Amino acid sequence: GMHTEIGRISGLLADTTSLKTPLLEQMDRFARGLSLIVIVAGILIFFGGLAFSGLEFRELFMAVVGLTVAAIPEGLPAILTITLAIGVRQMARRKAVVRRMPVIETLGAVSVICSDKTGTLTRNEMMVTTAVTSGERYEITGEGYGSDGMVCREGQPVTGDGVLAELARAAALCNDASIVGKDGQPSIHGDPMEAALKVFAGKAEFDHVDSASAWPRVDEVPFDTRIRFMATLHHDHHGHGIAYLKGAPERILAMCAHQVSTDGGTEPLSTEHWERIITEMASEGLRVLALARRPMAKGSRELVLEELEQGAELLGVVGLLDPPRQEAIRAIKECHDAGIRVKMITGDHALTAGAIARKLGLRNADRVLTGKELDDLDEDQLRSLAGEVDVFARTSPEHKLRLVKALQALHGVVAMTGDGVNDAPALKRADVGIAMGVKGSEAARQASSVVLLDDNFASIAAAVREGRTVYTNLRKGIAFMLPINGGESVSLITALLLGLTLPISALQILWVNMVSSVLLAMTLAFEPPEPGVMRQPPRPRDESLLKGFVVWRVAFVSLLFLVGIFAAWFWVMHRHQDPVLAGTLAVNTLVAMEVFYLFAVRYLDSASITLRGVLGTPVVLAAIAAVVVLQLLFTYLPWFQHTFTTTALSLEQLAFSVVAGVVVLVVLELETAIRNRVKAVRG
Ligand code: ADP
Ligand code: MG
Repeated sequence: GMHTEIGRISGLLADTTSLKTPLLEQMDRFARGLSLIVIVAGILIFFGGLAFSGLEFRELFMAVVGLTVAAIPEGLPAILTITLAIGVRQMARRKAVVRRMPVIETLGAVSVICSDKTGTLTRNEMMVTTAVTSGERYEITGEGYGSDGMVCREGQPVTGDGVLAELARAAALCNDASIVGKDGQPSIHGDPMEAALKVFAGKAEFDHVDSASAWPRVDEVPFDTRIRFMATLHHDHHGHGIAYLKGAPERILAMCAHQVSTDGGTEPLSTEHWERIITEMASEGLRVLALARRPMAKGSRELVLEELEQGAELLGVVGLLDPPRQEAIRAIKECHDAGIRVKMITGDHALTAGAIARKLGLRNADRVLTGKELDDLDEDQLRSLAGEVDVFARTSPEHKLRLVKALQALHGVVAMTGDGVNDAPALKRADVGIAMGVKGSEAARQASSVVLLDDNFASIAAAVREGRTVYTNLRKGIAFMLPINGGESVSLITALLLGLTLPISALQILWVNMVSSVLLAMTLAFEPPEPGVMRQPPRPRDESLLKGFVVWRVAFVSLLFLVGIFAAWFWVMHRHQDPVLAGTLAVNTLVAMEVFYLFAVRYLDSASITLRGVLGTPVVLAAIAAVVVLQLLFTYLPWFQHTFTTTALSLEQLAFSVVAGVVVLVVLELETAIRNRVKAVRG
């Protein structure tokens, strides 16, 4: 079991721990801290009250219950989930399917994206443009997978050349792809690169159908990223066997001692000549493949990997063009502007990788690290190089896991793409594992947290933008909810200290926290991205949700709410000496202040309220309408009056609460203006 390949991978998977997302960690810490404070405060108030105040047991007990309800943001888990769920929907629209919800927020913190090349950064619509045999060099014309096009030598169409014909046969037979013409449009099955080879064979006037029946396939060594070649065994009708090989050029060259000469015979391999040609083609950004044949003993029916290592005869090399995706070039630029490093990891030749990286606009395209060099580095050396180098070539999936670990050790929040079964451990270990939906394996999808429906790098960038938006909206949601709890708690404590009856009862607090606040805070999840989201550096992984400005806002607004609640309470008590009426107005004033505070919180970081902000989006207006209706029910409907101990307010009293809300908004605007002034003066 564990000694098989699948066992080994599942072992690697089991050993790879996935990291907890920053948000979950923070929420855990916040919940623990808050609970502790609430418990300690509750005990202190209860026993302190028994010892020093004249309050009765029952009253003190209710005060502690009220305080607990006030301090704990009951609506927050709902808001977190709703905000994330809306993010999931937005991302699905951008072709990124989120498998684990909290990862959305991690996406917003991503600082390094490691991406596959073929198909993700490039179009994976390949075409053979060059073919080289021992004596000749050919250019291939045409476009895409269409059959129009010719093989040319020095601009003149050619056919029937002996070695070229053999090269074409190898390309067509050592191949698992097929092309079918669908309403005039060619469509391919299988590997796009192999399809391109079929097209090439067709242009060299090689007859697939005849050949496939004349040379049936008897055995094969399938392609594997680790051996980097594939081989097929064919018999002709006399039972003569021949094996065709195709793969990474340095791999195939190492198996050959001979090359097929122009006259169809063999001659010793001129390694240097081939290496020069390969270098030349690779530096143009072409993916180079070598094709070879190996005569087999008559009647042999099996390919043995070890036997293939020797005795092959090189037929030639072909160069395939795989143009970069235009949208990937744009997305990479966007990522760079957003302070995100993009790294390309590919199984391709170092020179090809470098050339493509330059076309894509990657930062450090001139320094390419190969899998072999990676193997020679220990973890410390890798760590110092992993940060600098952006292009990794001739890698195998094991290298991805090492790279993820090295980048994480450099405090990166790493997104890693993958498609193969072997990629699963790296996908699981990465902060955001992104699997390819089209060409990806099931194992890769299972290990990942995001699946790309279109395998396109641009969708990753879009997902990061969405992740950042979700994070900002979460911050807004939290900045919105906490002062409400703050205001409530401070009011209760103040009332206790002053020896007054509680202005708002526990049940009323629950109503505010779970109905009005949740309804209003929910609208923040629909906030569109702020204009500058992709022009700021990624936030550090351990950045606290509650830092700097937000803490100040929470404290300041809590105080404003405290003042509002007490103003309402004292005003009514002074005139009517009716605690039920006073409490009702206090609750309504609190909710009115919330509504106005919502407008201020929508633009946490930017300067001021604009017309757009005041009018709000339809969602905001709908939520406000709902809250107004609910408050009217709360205040005037007998059933609610009975349940929540409320009573009808006069018009004047309603106006009071609205005015309190407006005052809050004006004060916050002033505060913003002052803060901006101070900022401007400072720097
Ligand atoms: P990539 O990261 O670009 O997808 P792979 O790991 O799939 O790279 O491929 C590595 C190398 O193996 C390629 O550069 C190519 O030389 C060779 N190769 C890829 N696919 C095949 C195939 N179907 N048959 C033979 N060789 C292949
Ligand atoms: Mg591949």
